[in-house]
Amino acid sequence: MLPLEPTDSGLFSPSDLPTVRQGEGYRVLARKYRPRRFSQVVGQNILVRLISQALKRDRLGHGFLFSGMRGIGKTTTARLLACYLNCLNLRQTEGEIEPCGVCDSCRAFEAEKHIDIIEMDAASHTGVDDIREILEACRYRPVLGRYKVFIIDEVHMLSKNAFNALLKTLEEPPEHVKFIFATTEIQKVLPTVVSRCLRFDLKRLDPAVLVPYLQDICTKETIKADPEALLLLAQAGGGSARDSLSLLDQAILLAEQQSQENPCIQAQDVGQMLGLLDRKAFHTLFEAILQGDAKASVETAQSLEGEGIDPLRVMEELSTFVHHLSCLKVGVKEGLLGMSVEEKNFLEHKAQQAELPTLGRLWQMLLKGREEVERAAFPQRAFEMVLVRLAYVTTLPTPDQLLKGAASPKKEIAVSPTIQIKLTPPLPSQASFSPLLQDFKGLIEAVIAKREGLLQTHLLQDIVLVTFEQGRLEISLKPGAPTDLPKRLQAFLKDYTGTSWKVILVPFSENLGPTLSEKKAEQERLIKEKVNAHPILEKARAFFPGVVLEEVKTLP
Ligand SMILES: [Zn+2]
Repeated sequence: MLPLEPTDSGLFSPSDLPTVRQGEGYRVLARKYRPRRFSQVVGQNILVRLISQALKRDRLGHGFLFSGMRGIGKTTTARLLACYLNCLNLRQTEGEIEPCGVCDSCRAFEAEKHIDIIEMDAASHTGVDDIREILEACRYRPVLGRYKVFIIDEVHMLSKNAFNALLKTLEEPPEHVKFIFATTEIQKVLPTVVSRCLRFDLKRLDPAVLVPYLQDICTKETIKADPEALLLLAQAGGGSARDSLSLLDQAILLAEQQSQENPCIQAQDVGQMLGLLDRKAFHTLFEAILQGDAKASVETAQSLEGEGIDPLRVMEELSTFVHHLSCLKVGVKEGLLGMSVEEKNFLEHKAQQAELPTLGRLWQMLLKGREEVERAAFPQRAFEMVLVRLAYVTTLPTPDQLLKGAASPKKEIAVSPTIQIKLTPPLPSQASFSPLLQDFKGLIEAVIAKREGLLQTHLLQDIVLVTFEQGRLEISLKPGAPTDLPKRLQAFLKDYTGTSWKVILVPFSENLGPTLSEKKAEQERLIKEKVNAHPILEKARAFFPGVVLEEVKTLP
């Protein structure tokens, strides 16, 4: 087991990281705030927990593999792991495991002169000879720490022979050797190498994680920063802490140029620095689309083009809006973390206006539109055509509204400053909304279809049909039938066909004929009589005296 007793002295003070900017010896932020413990690694909680657990139990294999996009902290994490592995007095405080910071190994690591930690960039040392050199070094025992640690960056770049040479050692490495590999392309690493390593995938950092991190660093650097500015930096950093930090470096320089005493990082300056437009232009555009205002959409897009913004970039922003809104509609709010108040308000407000089916349509059309714009000889024109369609589609009723019969009202869509197109949604055909009733049977089928069970019973048992014409029904009621039946029938007919019907009541008399139920019963009686008289039945009765015909069924 590792010695885990806490020690009093330590290189790291409880106050954590340095908070005062050094004048002459100013180091770039990414370097200055490089994590010195796993607890300082930002946004990789799962990885940190896994490694800490493994270290606590001293259950570590000989190989480790870190994968993830560039600038995400693979090398930093690999070096940290090397430091932890080599510390002679790893200590445990509040459940966290930490290097002591004072042993020979820790001091050498801090000074970046650790003789037992050997780094190799496989991108520039791809050959088998380079690997052989490393494998040679495996024979020597560690000098300062507990292990010889080999960090091989971009391991997927190794040649096949180099991989094979490495694999032999990886299968049966000496006790005092550890390998840490890092790669941006895990799929290019031999599966046999991957399977011999403890593998960690580093996550791309979300603005929700990066913005508070950048804010923290600004506080330590005693620099004020607009949250929206930090969001822009985090977004431009593309999920990489290192890239976001180097952008923050630039933004700080810019802010200090403007005011030496009271530097403040502002969204507008950062936007200019990054070559971005004010977010408001994107808001205006998206709003115009949601309102079905093609004119305003195209005009805003044209002014964006005037600012030199690529149409594909604008489409990307629109897609992001649609995605955020859809998430909000289904109750997922995590995407809003790390956003500026303004952005949050905008999205929450729009989420109340937009319907989910409309957002779905917009998403699909943006995906398709993207292809068109990419292929087009004049991307901006193609983009404007997409915008006109997007604005139109938001004015269409959703399937739900269509079902409820609430078709969209006549809508005027302004397509360009000079052309106006009037769009009248086609009226649903008469047939689809006002079904015709051909006869009394049709009426009963309609009653069944509408699940009017009671009315159905009355129609069958209490009503005698006299005449049936379009819009006119003459009936008679059997004695004892509810007297409001004609009125109820009339209401149903009006509701079902959409037109008014006359229902005329004729006084009941036996001469009018039977009700449908009676007619059916009579038919059944006749059939039974016929079947009973059939020669087969005569024969059956001879074999089975006393047999009675119960029911006659028509086979399909
Ligand atoms: Zn140590």
